[in-house]
Amino acid sequence: MATPLRVLIHGGGIGGLTLAVALARSGHTAEVVELRDELDALGVGIIQPSNALHVMREIGVLDACLEAGFPWEVLTICDPVGTTLAKIPQPRMDEAPSSSGIPRPALASILGDATGKAGVPIRFGTTISGLEDDGSGVDVTLSDGSSARWDLVVGFDGIGSPLRSRLYGDRFSPEYTGFANWRVTVPRTPEVQGVVVSVGRTSTKALLTPITDDLMYLAAVTAEEADFRPEPARAEELLKERLAGFGGPVAEALASVTGPEGIVYSRISQVTVDAPWHVGRVVLAGDAAHASTPNLAQGAAMAVEDALVLTRTLDEHDDVAAALTAWEERRRPRAMFVQNLSRALLKEETGSATTPEEDELLKIGMPGAAHVLVKPY
Ligand SMILES: Cc1cc2nc3c(=O)[nH]c(=O)nc-3n(C[C@H](O)[C@H](O)[C@H](O)COP(=O)(O)OP(=O)(O)OC[C@H]3O[C@@H](n4cnc5c(N)ncnc54)[C@H](O)[C@@H]3O)c2cc1C
Repeated sequence: MATPLRVLIHGGGIGGLTLAVALARSGHTAEVVELRDELDALGVGIIQPSNALHVMREIGVLDACLEAGFPWEVLTICDPVGTTLAKIPQPRMDEAPSSSGIPRPALASILGDATGKAGVPIRFGTTISGLEDDGSGVDVTLSDGSSARWDLVVGFDGIGSPLRSRLYGDRFSPEYTGFANWRVTVPRTPEVQGVVVSVGRTSTKALLTPITDDLMYLAAVTAEEADFRPEPARAEELLKERLAGFGGPVAEALASVTGPEGIVYSRISQVTVDAPWHVGRVVLAGDAAHASTPNLAQGAAMAVEDALVLTRTLDEHDDVAAALTAWEERRRPRAMFVQNLSRALLKEETGSATTPEEDELLKIGMPGAAHVLVKPY
């Protein structure tokens, strides 16, 4: 792009803040509008696989992420009683560790600080209330009453994306998979030196992810009715009921859960925008365009890759429309690979029926996917 662009980012989550920093480093002018009043995040952790760490390096925050997190190299697969079935070294994209766990609040704070240092303002408690794209720019009105003209508006506004609804109504609303995820942060036990996945009991899977020297999070994936919501006061009892029968490190972690506080319940849904990710100068990215089930721990990794590649593609083209088309051509196959394999793994790990296409993907499996995704994005 010969002249720097003015870009409005709708959503200050993992993808939106990464885009803010990447654009500013490339000389563009960006602003973030975020509905929440601050950059808080769920008090659980997230895995940053090698490709996500690579993006963190490119935007200058890799060291901060590794210092705040728990880098690890080997994925351990156990049976439900805790017997180790396999130890799978994870591939690296470069000299950074192959993976790292990090508390979500720490990641939000690192990305928020980098956004501030890059000179990109974040307007909290604000959302887009109106937009008009006339082909050469987008006139946007915000909920605080202000308005401005932008060259590009990016919807990094998450799985429930209001911008996606504005473009496509309810055509691509999140599809519930029939499964939910329970997460809680507990003290790390010394044997948990990397992610430990415990599978084998029909429809329930458990995993442990170290996120700091002292902490790890326990996650359980369980089959749940679409309208089920755990009564907050009963969360501990319900989680323990679902993980009854698990032994080894999962049972040990569960024993340290001593109350319902901090247990986060999330329904697992996915989003497939089976139409262009951009309409004119408004583009959807990250979960807004392609939310996956978390089985490959790649949702946020895809969001940050989207952000970096979008910046580079805008830099390589003189025309916004051509850049958005080229960006989507590059990103869609990789994001769909993650989405389709994640969904197939969810079905396999929970004993659900798979389609012939999913059986093909499952031949690649989780270890094969790590080798695919470690290749440049
Ligand atoms: C149980 C679970 C575990 C996961 N584990 C991993 C993992 O280990 N590794 C991994 O890579 N991924 C993981 N993911 C996926 C990951 O969390 C998402 O893919 C990632 O957060 C997507 O980033 P995003 O920026 O697209 O959206 P988000 O991070 O969801 O950010 C969206 C932002 O938009 C804001 N917003 C929403 N509406 C508006 C509005 N109207 N106006 C302004 N702002 C708005 C929100 O407040 C939010 O800040 C997991 C997901 C789940 C559910």
